[in-house]
Amino acid sequence: MREIKIRHAAIILCALLITLSVLDMPAWASSEGDAKEALTVGVPVDRCPIFYRDPNTGEPTGIGVELMRFAADDAGYSAIFRFIEEETIKEALDNGEYDVIMPLGSAITSASGQSTTVTDNLFQTPFTFVTKGNRALPPLDHLRVGMLRSLGGGIETLHQLYPDMEILEYENMPQSVQALRAGEVDALLHNSYVWSYVLQKPLYSDLTVQPSTVFSMDFRAGTLDNPRGQAVIERLNRGIALLTDTRRQAVILDYTSRRLYRYDVSDFLHQHGQVLLLVLLLFVALAVIAGQRIQAFRREQDEKIRQMLDHDSLTGLLSMNGFRKRVEELLRAHPDAPYFLSYNNIRDFKFINDSLGREAGDELLRFWARKSMENLSDDEAMGRVAADHFAVLRHISDDEQTKLDEQNVFEPVHNFFIDQGKENRVQICSGIYVLTPKDFREIDVDHMLDLARVAENQARENRKGDFEFYNREQWERGKRIADIINYLPKGMESGDIRVWYQPQVNYETGEITGAEALCRWDHSKLGWLQPAGFIETLEEAGLIYELDSFVWDRVCQDISRWNAQGHHRSVSVNVSRDDINESRDITGQFSRLIQAYDLTPDQLRIEITETAYVENHDILIEATQKLRDLGFQVEMDDFGSGYSSLHMLKEVPVDRIKLDLHFLTSSGDPEKSRTIVSCMINMVRLLGMQMIAEGVETVEQAEFLDSQGCSEMQGYYFYKPMPVEDFEVIMQKGYGA
Ligand code: C2E
Ligand code: MG
Ligand code: MG
Repeated sequence: MREIKIRHAAIILCALLITLSVLDMPAWASSEGDAKEALTVGVPVDRCPIFYRDPNTGEPTGIGVELMRFAADDAGYSAIFRFIEEETIKEALDNGEYDVIMPLGSAITSASGQSTTVTDNLFQTPFTFVTKGNRALPPLDHLRVGMLRSLGGGIETLHQLYPDMEILEYENMPQSVQALRAGEVDALLHNSYVWSYVLQKPLYSDLTVQPSTVFSMDFRAGTLDNPRGQAVIERLNRGIALLTDTRRQAVILDYTSRRLYRYDVSDFLHQHGQVLLLVLLLFVALAVIAGQRIQAFRREQDEKIRQMLDHDSLTGLLSMNGFRKRVEELLRAHPDAPYFLSYNNIRDFKFINDSLGREAGDELLRFWARKSMENLSDDEAMGRVAADHFAVLRHISDDEQTKLDEQNVFEPVHNFFIDQGKENRVQICSGIYVLTPKDFREIDVDHMLDLARVAENQARENRKGDFEFYNREQWERGKRIADIINYLPKGMESGDIRVWYQPQVNYETGEITGAEALCRWDHSKLGWLQPAGFIETLEEAGLIYELDSFVWDRVCQDISRWNAQGHHRSVSVNVSRDDINESRDITGQFSRLIQAYDLTPDQLRIEITETAYVENHDILIEATQKLRDLGFQVEMDDFGSGYSSLHMLKEVPVDRIKLDLHFLTSSGDPEKSRTIVSCMINMVRLLGMQMIAEGVETVEQAEFLDSQGCSEMQGYYFYKPMPVEDFEVIMQKGYGA
């Protein structure tokens, strides 16, 4: 019974609802099955959530669309919404393809100047300010407000409401926000529904909506004011009249509560920028590390390949390729070292291989390589350039070394099989090529090896000795150079290198006014050497500074001893052009010397040869000036032997010119020489410099010089250079101070 009652109640309720809904239908609405008239409504696309494109269907949607659809439906229309493609709503009004256009606040004039008619208000849209942060706004009249140009009606309304307000128009939202941030405007004004959407953008998190509504705008549809337009509007108004507030609120709430905003790349960057940057940096760092690893790996591989190409796998020596490169390197690094290059070959190596076996042959090659390498220094090289052919780049040294080579390398190789109880004595043929200065300038290792091989062929053919020279005279020269270079330290230490003195006199008074220090070498192997025999070699080998420092020190010792004996004497010392360069503080060195030996600067006269001034002009002039500032006397040596440029005489700030008579009088017309000497003396005097003539050998020369006004002289006519003991004896006899 109870069930039957409930069923009856449900049937009655349904009947009631159907009756109610039929009553709610407008009287003019056609019955359900009837097709409704289509109404094309043009709407903007860029006003989410009022008008926007549905991301799923691509169709227009939003609060405005939804409310219009209801109103049109109630008015018996089937609304079709299309996005307005014209720039402005005013232009769209002229396009006959839309039946009505939305949104209009009130009737306006179309772009072509036609008047329009609008529907009743569909709903109200409140306009609110947005500011940067939560800043307080000045009074509304003095406000500078930014609005989007597309809100034409809103702009007009605002003008009417606040005539003094400054309103700036912008094309789009980003531009207006930028203006707000830059302080161009105090606030932005827009529909608060739009703000609810726009401010979801993380990039705008610094913007704040001000709570109060500035004004509200009507939201209407409109069309051209003509009979057809009026009919449509009239009909639509009937539908709008049926829209209840509850329905309006429901639609507005529905759309404003949706999270319609879709995050784009800029939002993502804004929110996760720092993390992204870190990840990026990490990635870059990893990429750099990976790149470096790959490069290191490649280098390692290249190095391995290079090693393989440059080395001989059997002996571990350099290959032909490696030897060539190493020799080039060494010659560049040691351009003055006397080197020789030997080409060595085992006589009848094929026979050794055939009779004793290939392994025995290999053993011999390895043994030779090992023994040789034990004897080579770092700046020498050895390579296996073919089967049993070895090339060696070696310093030319003294006979001692040759003996050691024979003893340590060649003898053990000769006896390699004999020491194993076999009968074969190993014979080696060597060709020696001694490098010439040209070989250092134009390095051609293959050419040098060819020449050494020519000598090796001779050694093999004449069967006399084990080795042959390609250029024996170079060998002698090289050995001499080696003897000078190698014996220099010993020569200075043992006293074999000495300082001699050649007195300088005043021809008028007969007094000894000074002396020049000149070195001599009693070489334990090469015998008595004059400077001509070793100075140039030491200059070429970059060792002249060692010798000169030694000489200067000895001279200062001697002067100091004479000072102690009460004789104040001055000595001229020679300074090589190589002594003065940027890396050496030669002025400091002379200052330290006179301090150490308690001398006065005038006791050292510093001779710098004339040609040095030409070659190294600026550095020498600077050094000369510094030396003179310190009180030393500077002399230009060998004047007349080189270029003797008059310009240089003017430029170079020396105290004394040392005229080299030898060069001027050795050849040519004596009368002309006398004229030149006479002119030079005159010129030097006129320039305010002192002068001394060296190489004076005869009384006539002395007389002539004196008659021309140069009375300071040095030469064999007076004294030859002499050991210090002899010099002291001469001085004791009463000459000098
Ligand atoms: P220099 O500095 O022009 O020295 C003068 C040279 O002329 C000396 O030769 C001297 O013995 C020689 N001589 C002196 N009077 C006469 C003469 O009347 N007739 C002839 N024919 N010659 C005379 P020496 O001692 O053989 O020195 C030659 C050059 O070697 C020097 O020329 C100087 O440039 C250089 N020299 C000598 N000792 C040193 C030194 O310790 N260091 C440096 N860097 N160079 C030095
Ligand atoms: Mg000199
Ligand atoms: Mg000289």
